[in-house]
Amino acid sequence: MQQRLTDYARLIVEVGANVQAGQTVLVAASVDSACFARLIAEKAYDAGAREVVTRFYDEQLKRMHFLRADAAVFDEVARWVPEFYNEYAEKGAALISITAADPELLLGVDPDRIQRSNISTGTALKGFYDKQMSNAFPWTIAAIPSEAWAKKVFPDLPPAEAVERLWDAIFTAVHVGAGDPVVVWREKIKTMDTRAAALNAHRFQKLRYKNSLGTDLTLTLPEEHLWTACGEEAGTGQVFVANMPTEEIFVLPDKRGTEGVVCASMPLSLNGNLVEDIKLTFEGGKIVKAEASKGLEHLEKELDIDEGARYLGEIALVPYRSPISEMGILFYNTLFDENASCHLAFGKAYPKFRDMAERTEEELLVRGMNDSLVHVDFMIGTADLEITGMTEDGREVAVFRDGNFAEGFGV
Ligand code: ZN
Ligand code: ZN
Repeated sequence: MQQRLTDYARLIVEVGANVQAGQTVLVAASVDSACFARLIAEKAYDAGAREVVTRFYDEQLKRMHFLRADAAVFDEVARWVPEFYNEYAEKGAALISITAADPELLLGVDPDRIQRSNISTGTALKGFYDKQMSNAFPWTIAAIPSEAWAKKVFPDLPPAEAVERLWDAIFTAVHVGAGDPVVVWREKIKTMDTRAAALNAHRFQKLRYKNSLGTDLTLTLPEEHLWTACGEEAGTGQVFVANMPTEEIFVLPDKRGTEGVVCASMPLSLNGNLVEDIKLTFEGGKIVKAEASKGLEHLEKELDIDEGARYLGEIALVPYRSPISEMGILFYNTLFDENASCHLAFGKAYPKFRDMAERTEEELLVRGMNDSLVHVDFMIGTADLEITGMTEDGREVAVFRDGNFAEGFGV
């Protein structure tokens, strides 16, 4: 166990954030993850970090805050909060977030409080998130189990055993335990880049999604869009991996060009509440109807945060037969579930264009890049998902058949 923990921490530091000598590292973690945060700090110093700064929070205090604080505080953000994050972003610090979230942490909290908090925090930190999503600095998110989370994933096991099982699942998902994971990941980045290149070669104009769950959706890709895999380059020049695990190849849509219906294939933990059986209807790019069998009020609140929340910001392709989906575990955590399934996100887009360097933000917005305070991934992949690409010259190309990449996109 100790060896796997050390390997995992080193992987997050060396491949996830790819910490460079002399770089400042900011670690965000819950107090329950303190032991692991120390291990991360140790590996960051081993990699030559100038300073490791840690921001701890406590999930139970967060819940208490949402339940008991004066309602007015949800419209406020202390001045030091954006100052703190902006300062480290400007320094080009590497950001490492360790999550261990209870998927239903905020069960029973007034959705209005959550929405107001998301608006005030999202607004105060807009500059920071813009920098993060355009990769001004390297950042990575990884997870470790908490008892509350493990109990959701393995409800029939005693808590200690559930935590152990979740550790095993996480290690499998991030390829820890089979040789040097740093080497495994460097190889993986190369393989996934090849697949992204195969998608880019087609310059698809549209993608059509269909499955028996009821999805019948057409997506439009913007001019000069760039499919991207896990190895991304930060403004600081270092190649980093934003999510661990990751199995996705992603791009942004032209926000105006989404038409039809999409049905989610897994529950979504949204703002500490579960939303199930999501069904979204699009017209002219906009979500005009949202349905869910559970947690609809939380979904509606999120979609009402701003105009951009009702438009898509991400298209991600993940084979149904991915190493994570083959474990057959529903994680109730987007970081894992989205890498077991094709997904979309509503809200802010990651700017992914071939000619990024020569374009202003205004020019990218004109091409249909979405902006919003929110970015919410939801899973839509199924064993029978078919995705067909349409090219500029009117050809149709099979991209996904029976839930997996079709021939020509590698396996
Ligand atoms: Zn994604
Ligand atoms: Zn996303």
